[in-house]
Amino acid sequence: MKIYAVGGAVRDELLGLPVADRDYVVVGASPDEMVRRGFRPVGKDFPVFLHPDTHEEYALARTERKTARGYKGFQVYAAPEVTLEEDLARRDLTINAIAKDEAGNFIDPYGGMADLKAGMLRHVSPAFIEDPVRVLRAARFAARFGFAIAPETLALMREMAANGEVDALVPERVWQELSRGLMEKIPSRMFRALRECGALARILPELDVLFGVPQTEQYHPEVDTGVHVMMVVDYAAAQNYSLPVRFAALTHDLGKGTTPREAWPRHIDHEARSFELVKALCQRLRVPNDCRELALVVARFHGIPLRAFDLRPETILKLLLETDSLRQPRRFEAFLQACTADFCGRLGYRDAVFVQADFLREAHKATQEVDAGAVARQCDDPTKIRDRVYAARLEAIKAWLGKSGRAGDAG
Ligand code: ATP
Ligand code: MG
Repeated sequence: MKIYAVGGAVRDELLGLPVADRDYVVVGASPDEMVRRGFRPVGKDFPVFLHPDTHEEYALARTERKTARGYKGFQVYAAPEVTLEEDLARRDLTINAIAKDEAGNFIDPYGGMADLKAGMLRHVSPAFIEDPVRVLRAARFAARFGFAIAPETLALMREMAANGEVDALVPERVWQELSRGLMEKIPSRMFRALRECGALARILPELDVLFGVPQTEQYHPEVDTGVHVMMVVDYAAAQNYSLPVRFAALTHDLGKGTTPREAWPRHIDHEARSFELVKALCQRLRVPNDCRELALVVARFHGIPLRAFDLRPETILKLLLETDSLRQPRRFEAFLQACTADFCGRLGYRDAVFVQADFLREAHKATQEVDAGAVARQCDDPTKIRDRVYAARLEAIKAWLGKSGRAGDAG
């Protein structure tokens, strides 16, 4: 039996990147033989084993044949006769289909090394169209490496979007790939690739329609809403913001996609429409709670921090209470990060400072310093506690505004 390193580890090593997890292919062995050598079988759908000491994954060389629609519709054939080249042929992209033997020689039957040099994502074989996850993977690798997608590969991705194959993806898998793509260096590249092949309209139609929707040029020199949202997401990624912040950045303006054309380029009350669209989207894709909750808060309130200096103390407190900032201070910080990305994710604003966020951080801090328990203890009428705590918080904001020298602005 022969063992080869394959997949992402070989690719990343050739790119000079740190290698996280290593996968191996075993040629010329049977499952029994693997078990006899101490490997632990873990594969449910195909024979994969864990190394007794390193716990790295060793898969028997296998071929796959499409037998039915959907991602389960594969017939897997693993046997000692399956060659390395056959195993590499079932892989998605040439850069992921390079193997390295134990002596350190690279085996590269599909030109993966040349594509790595050229910065090109290219499918290995026409069987690429058999698994729609590959559309998302290709788009995700575009976001990670900044590579271009080969025209012939993009053509196959178009075919899969057009023939409905992409619709067969289960929501969990779509979310898994989208969330990974959001965590890459330049997430917009994933969405652009998905848009170019028509998959975005199938997977995230509410995002797809934002392209071509104009905004007021005075505030949005980039004009196009889709362009703006991509800038916001890339800004959030450049700041290393968390996944919830990036997802909120992606979805905050969905409501602009349903503004009646007659109203363009203005988008009155789009926040409320964003809120409803985010809710539906999160349900459809089974988005985890932390991402969902932040995205809803950002969709609903992202317009307010922009006007922070013009807000009355009552309105500042209303924002702090409606965002539940006193019980969820970390989420409030994430909210401000998303709003900062919204502000800076505009043409010409990338290096601007969103001072309104710091202003609201300070207002939040002033409110946090009010000891609600002490206020309640000093109150002999229990029905009045709520109002007293509210009044104490409002006083705190007013006092802080007075000290901050912004009191005049908040008319
Ligand atoms: P990452 O760095 O994100 O782990 P990776 O390329 O290692 O990237 P894995 O999901 O770990 O991705 O998969 C390991 C290898 O298995 C890939 O490099 C590729 O050769 C193959 N592979 C994974 N998913 C698919 C797929 N859907 N279709 C074809 N080949 C796939
Ligand atoms: Mg991997």
